Amino acid sequence: MLVEVAVAAAVRGTFTYRVPSRLAGEVSLGSRVAVPFGKSQRATGYVVGLPTVPPPGVELRDVAAVLDEFPPFTEPMLRLIRWAEDYYLAPPGELLRAALPPGLNARRGAAAPARRGVDFAAPAPGAAEALAAMGARAHARRAVLEYLLARGRIPVEELRAAFPRGRPVLSALVKDGLATLETVAAVAGGDALLPASEEPFSLTTEQSSALARIAAASGAFHTFLLHGVTGSGKTEVYLQAIARARAAGQGALVLVPEIALTPQLAGRFRARFGDQVALLHSGLSDRERHSEWLRLRRGEARICVGVRSAVFAPVQDLGIVVVDEEHDPSFKQDDGPGYHARDLAVVRARVEGAVCVLGSATPSLETLENARTGKYQRIELPRRIDDRPMPEVRIVDLSRIRKGTPLPGLLSPVLADALSATVRAGRQAILFLNRRGFQTLVLCRDCGREERCENCSVSLTLHARRGVLLCHYCGATERMSRTCPACGGERAGVGVGTEQVEAGVKEIVPGARVARMDRDALSGAADVAELLARFARREIDVLVGTQMVTKGHDFPGVTLVGVVLADTALALPDFRAAERTFQLLTQVAGRAGRGDDPGQVVVQTFHPHSPAVAFAVGHDFAGFAELELDRRRSLGYPPFGRMLAVRVEGSESGARRTAEALGEAARPALGDGVTMLGPAPAAIERIRGRSRWHLLFRADDAAALRRIHRALKPTAARPPGGASIRFDVDPHAML
Ligand code: ADP
Ligand code: ZN
Repeated sequence: MLVEVAVAAAVRGTFTYRVPSRLAGEVSLGSRVAVPFGKSQRATGYVVGLPTVPPPGVELRDVAAVLDEFPPFTEPMLRLIRWAEDYYLAPPGELLRAALPPGLNARRGAAAPARRGVDFAAPAPGAAEALAAMGARAHARRAVLEYLLARGRIPVEELRAAFPRGRPVLSALVKDGLATLETVAAVAGGDALLPASEEPFSLTTEQSSALARIAAASGAFHTFLLHGVTGSGKTEVYLQAIARARAAGQGALVLVPEIALTPQLAGRFRARFGDQVALLHSGLSDRERHSEWLRLRRGEARICVGVRSAVFAPVQDLGIVVVDEEHDPSFKQDDGPGYHARDLAVVRARVEGAVCVLGSATPSLETLENARTGKYQRIELPRRIDDRPMPEVRIVDLSRIRKGTPLPGLLSPVLADALSATVRAGRQAILFLNRRGFQTLVLCRDCGREERCENCSVSLTLHARRGVLLCHYCGATERMSRTCPACGGERAGVGVGTEQVEAGVKEIVPGARVARMDRDALSGAADVAELLARFARREIDVLVGTQMVTKGHDFPGVTLVGVVLADTALALPDFRAAERTFQLLTQVAGRAGRGDDPGQVVVQTFHPHSPAVAFAVGHDFAGFAELELDRRRSLGYPPFGRMLAVRVEGSESGARRTAEALGEAARPALGDGVTMLGPAPAAIERIRGRSRWHLLFRADDAAALRRIHRALKPTAARPPGGASIRFDVDPHAML
């Protein structure tokens, strides 16, 4: 018996080995094996083919061992991974490795503990009083107990998604009689696990017809775009479509952008499907991830809810794939093999003959175009649940505010008044600004010197509370001083960040309970969950934050959303800038008015007439999409053309020489439907002391891109000056 093995090393190509008869029964397609490789006695590899004839003229060596009781990859998974290697121009082995949980890469597959049921945690009577009496030092205990009080009885899994280190804390709370723990026996089908709060809703007419169309297509590959406005009940459609797949004995894969930011969502899946759900996200330890992975691989768990890398999760008999918020940029991997999990999800559904549902209120233009050409079928949920109105949106044109008007935290009088009125009425507000820190640029008034990072070509941001100037790329800090280090002149800061908005709110509405949600204020999933729980309990009136506040939160108390400056994303040198701005504005506006009280949104901007802003204000996705698609078509940009970014990093001269050599190598392949931008220094020329150059290719079709790749390969294999090169297919980041 012979096997074709992809070795997990930085080598191209695959190798053939012989299987000794003692291992013959254990090896199959997808097995992980130890093989002698080069001088090393044992390298790890994956069986990707079963050739029948040996390659001529090679002396074959034997497979040394089979590493797992199950082959980690099933046959369809291998097809998916090989497709991805080919499409993303990634070295073989790199994706195979990316597709496995880190725990498995490290050692032999250990047995997962047997599980017999689902654990539920709940606050015990008297927990609220105990919390009030708890000292400030008991930080972790407070956080977990607060969360339990806010959420009531929840699967322990949800708590673990929210607090990666929360399990021992929960045990301590149980020991002290502040929380209860109960195991509900697993029953075939899992229905007995439903806590009362998670009965399926009876669907609206529109939800029912969406579900009917998805159900009618099941059993074969089919992709749907579920285009539903914010609050239209998409999640309930996913849940019931999955329930049907389960009833037919099939498994389900659900991809979500970020589990830490939406612990409720993971909780809803656990609550409805209990033990059948495995969660895969970065908040878990390697061991936990490995154990969830094994539960799926063995068919003990049949539904996977996970982030980007979960597109490779070993769900058995896959019947349905759901990608929630399919437009979210976090599905695109920005380093390594650079795959897009949404696109791989569609391919995975195809190789497994499953139904794929891509859900969003603001579909990406790629997905929309696929729906327009009939490749995907579009299902619309045009109304909110209970016919709640979409929030009313008002524009504040910042350029027309009289010079000299004080704007604390860049909050205009209109937004300031709305904010005071909201807080006075006992309601809640969310303020969104996509810039961290207090001031984004510090200048000397006398000599004009800007404080810039020594390692990166970006300016430093003032973080007033910490009293430092911080580089947002490499994390380098400098102590803030009021005087210019060059001339001794007085320094001033410009550009508002979230820290300054927070200060502005405190000035405008004294006594308001304000909290900030960004990477500076929160250090992990536990902090995020704690903050969201406090907001849900209405212990916070105003939540100020970066794009973290735009995610799918569902807070009925929020009636006001303020966009402090809509223009931050518009200014980026990126062909998706308008699309991204439209998405952010629509998503954040969608947080308002989800309860019984109607919502209002105030958008501050210097560009009220830019299409992204104007169409978002009018809740007009179709209008925006039509205009933007026309623009893309005329430029030949995605979704009408294809792009490949070649990213070069190295020493100043190494990066430049390599980029120039690649440019020369590409030249013969240009024309004929391919154009090249660059080679040029990247918009951010230096990060962490490494110089960065980019080449950007735009092609009419995939075949043209392949020609370019072939032309570049010889140079890429031997870059002058030792620079590193990465091919980024369908690039998102343009900086
Ligand atoms: P989306 O994901 O489209 O923004 P959600 O699925 O979060 O919307 O639903 C919005 C709200 O409506 C949620 O609080 C959800 O529990 C509720 N909901 C969803 N479907 C129904 C239904 N059929 N009947 C009543 N409430 C529903
Ligand atoms: Zn830096």
